[in-house]
Amino acid sequence: MSNMHQSWLPVASDSDFSVHNLPFGIFSDLRGRRAGVAIGDFVIDLAEAYDLGMFPEYKLKENVFRKPVLNDAIKLGRAFSRYVRTVLQNALCNPYSSLHQHADSLLIRMQDVQMHLPLQIGNYTDFYSSEEHATTVGKLFRPDNPLFPNWKHMPVAYHGRASSIVVSGTPVHRPCGQIGTGDMPVFAPTKALDYELELAFVVGMDSELGKPIPVSCAEDYIFGVLLFNDWSARDIQRWEYQPLGPFTSKNFASSVSSWIVTMDALDAFRNDLAEQSPEPLPYLMHENRCGFDINLTIGISPAGLEEFEVAATNSRQLYWNISQQVAHHTVTGCNLNVGDLLATGTISGSSSPEKGCLLEATSGGKNPVSLKNGIQRTFLEDNDEVVMRGYAQKGDIRVGFGELRGKILPPASR
Ligand code: CA
Repeated sequence: MSNMHQSWLPVASDSDFSVHNLPFGIFSDLRGRRAGVAIGDFVIDLAEAYDLGMFPEYKLKENVFRKPVLNDAIKLGRAFSRYVRTVLQNALCNPYSSLHQHADSLLIRMQDVQMHLPLQIGNYTDFYSSEEHATTVGKLFRPDNPLFPNWKHMPVAYHGRASSIVVSGTPVHRPCGQIGTGDMPVFAPTKALDYELELAFVVGMDSELGKPIPVSCAEDYIFGVLLFNDWSARDIQRWEYQPLGPFTSKNFASSVSSWIVTMDALDAFRNDLAEQSPEPLPYLMHENRCGFDINLTIGISPAGLEEFEVAATNSRQLYWNISQQVAHHTVTGCNLNVGDLLATGTISGSSSPEKGCLLEATSGGKNPVSLKNGIQRTFLEDNDEVVMRGYAQKGDIRVGFGELRGKILPPASR
């Protein structure tokens, strides 16, 4: 990847959506819901571009971009999305391209569109891959036994809920549930509502039931990456999580960002990972094991007040990588389908600003986080908006995810 690409469309140097990125999403305006690619402050209308014959190498039975989700376009394989991005990259750098000639109809201002959940998500799995997060949370829930003995031998995960995954900007009502208080549980709105900053990998190819995916080719099954917020009600979680793990404390909502950043766009931002000790079993041993160097931040904006950054971390430190997660997920023969999400688990580092959830940042609610003007938070309050951002940068090449926003509303009336 070079920075030879000079686009005729002005793109700010700090834009997440540079010509190197070209992430895919689903948007709508008065002309309906369809697929688009983000560039600067604009959306390229892929459905219209396809009808104009901009992708002649693919003669499809139907326009896969004029659909309410990206699943069918993703099913055409990595070669197809790579081709579409290359065509668009060339067109954006060629002032005589049909994209430039038809810019009036093909380029739509981002402010004039609404973004939607980009996928039909069949299944969602949440891993637990940050050693810092697992150790710190483990200490809060089990002081004597923070990291279970299996943790360094396998990417631990639970099967999450796909039906309640919502797109950035969708508000989330404070959930009510069972909260342990000693002898008898009470039914009440959670008093310990939290976010969890994660990345979600989007499955881009179906695998066969009964056939484990080898770690060496696991990444072929991934299309791209989203920001992910795994909302969590800690008081409900503390009471319900044993023995089978989180359930209603997390199934009320999870939020994803709008634009899927492709694995091709992230290729330049890989980082080497230290050898794992103890050495994992052979099916998890991966030559050239790498992570992704993505800067991540979390901001909270209380009602009527400006946003305050409460965390800044990076995904490069995760102990288990996506290839190992795919290999482990399928080792017993479980199949993956296009549109499934595999989330990393909360991404935290060792220093205090690197905490990917409030449970960690406040040591279980004991030490509040200070926002501006003397405002503090132990957990989220009604009308707080949580904003997550992520980007990778090398020299002046920047590839970002845009924003993942979610505002907390009071409990829904029943
Ligand atoms: Ca999580």
